[in-house]
Amino acid sequence: MVKDGVFTIGLDIDNVLNACAEWFVEYAAEHFDIDVELGTRTAYNWSDYITAEQEAEILNQSHLHFGHFRPRQIAVEFLRRVHVIANRNNIKVRFIYVTDRRFLGFPYKELLKLPPREETYQRTLDWLLYNGFPVHELYLEGDMGGKTKGEIAVAENVDIFIEDAVHKAMDISQHLRRIFDSVEPVWLMLMPWNRTSFLDALQQDVMPPGIRYVKDWSEIMLLLLHQWQEFGVLEKNELDALEAYRQHIF
Ligand SMILES: [Mg+2]
Repeated sequence: MVKDGVFTIGLDIDNVLNACAEWFVEYAAEHFDIDVELGTRTAYNWSDYITAEQEAEILNQSHLHFGHFRPRQIAVEFLRRVHVIANRNNIKVRFIYVTDRRFLGFPYKELLKLPPREETYQRTLDWLLYNGFPVHELYLEGDMGGKTKGEIAVAENVDIFIEDAVHKAMDISQHLRRIFDSVEPVWLMLMPWNRTSFLDALQQDVMPPGIRYVKDWSEIMLLLLHQWQEFGVLEKNELDALEAYRQHIF
């Protein structure tokens, strides 16, 4: 919306669009004889529960399995509805996916045995397309000559970015905030493993501005339509209809 009348939505993939954490927990329970309850898991990193070797094994194995990760149907439905609403209001919307499936931040790189970058890219793209996600661009973090998610988001003129990892949200926010100084461009989805780190960062005053905590896709839809209405590109009855519908069902 900021540039060329196009609104660009940036999306993380793992845990935002699929049930990746559920797969990790199942794998850990089956192979390492530990039982991590998803609902009570408060750390984003696995180092509290397993060794670096075990974590590397999970990351390596995930590359063999992520084609089978279950998509979150509510995310598929959300993106399709956004597409429909954008179309009938003549809004050009782009969906940009950026994933860290090369695990750039993993400290024990020598333990990783990943396939070539092209294979990761193609299998990720196949998964998105097969499951019905609208795709305009897909990037692996580190693409564009080593750019981070935040740098890719800037290069792609992302208006909002939906993410579940606090440290990624901070990177994206720090970059996007240089462009948009009056809005919150990063929408961090509430998950058991980010609640504590989000609150810690707030308490230690290291949480950068520009990150909004959102509880679910329904809230994201409401925020998105409000933003479009403020930009003056949305018919008023769209938001009225959504709010009436929410009152009816909740
Ligand atoms: Mg994620």
